[in-house]
Order: sequence, then C-alpha cells, then structure tokens
Amino acid sequence: MKVTIDGSKCVGAGNCEADMHDVFEVQDVGPTKVVGQPKEDRKRLLELVIGNCPARAIGLGS
Ligand code: SF4
Repeated sequence: MKVTIDGSKCVGAGNCEADMHDVFEVQDVGPTKVVGQPKEDRKRLLELVIGNCPARAIGLGS
C-alpha cells in the first residue's frame, strides 16, 4: 500500500497520527507527513483513518 497526504488539503488536525503514529507525523509547521508505509494486514485500520480525516487529505494507492 502507498499512503499519501495532499499537503494542500491537510489541516494538521492529527487524527491520523493518533491512530497510526508509525505512519503519520504531525509537523509543527506545515502539513502532516507520511513517515512509514503500513503493511497490507492493517488496511482496515487505514481505511478508518482515511474516513476520519476531516480534510479528506489522505490518499491510498497500490
Ligand atoms: S487527519 Fe487529515 S487533516 Fe488531520 S493531520 Fe491527518 S491528514 Fe491532515
């Protein structure tokens, strides 16, 4: 899986980091960064995280 964040949409709310801190890292300034890629067995959690992003900024490719 390839997780991406659209930096032009991210508002830094941090929901994603709270749920998957090894994948998302909120920055002091600017949009949250992807710091790791989850394995396939965490896809279900990742889909929940994507759905909980208030800015719809998280993308998922293969
Ligand atoms: S949940 Fe969405 S808006 Fe909030 S920090 Fe993560 S990517 Fe950005």
